Amino acid sequence: MQCAPDIEQTKEELEDRSWWSEASCATGGAGLAAIFFSDELQDIAAAKRICAECPVLAPCLEGAIARREPWGVWGGQLFLNGHILQAKRRRGRPPKVARPEDALPEIPIPEHLRSA
Ligand code: SF4
Repeated sequence: MQCAPDIEQTKEELEDRSWWSEASCATGGAGLAAIFFSDELQDIAAAKRICAECPVLAPCLEGAIARREPWGVWGGQLFLNGHILQAKRRRGRPPKVARPEDALPEIPIPEHLRSA
């Protein structure tokens, strides 16, 4: 059977973090990490804006999709339980009038990852 080599190849692809040294979030420390895993809309928006300028957005997002990240901002997208959320609302009762400050930046998903 040819299954084992394919599994090993996938494992290697998942573990390839050679791009990490170029990550915009790599040198931010715990303070920066906190906004990538925050529940606050302003923090999430700030994290997405950092991702938007990141030179390794595509491999980061690809890895997050493959790992089915349970939580946080990865590759410019907000993940929850392995899925990309298009929107998130503030806790509590929704406002009658949408708050512009609650809108999250829309970071385009690279073409080859759109069906994921
Ligand atoms: S895309 Fe965002 S989460 Fe991924 S490495 Fe870049 S800054 Fe970090």
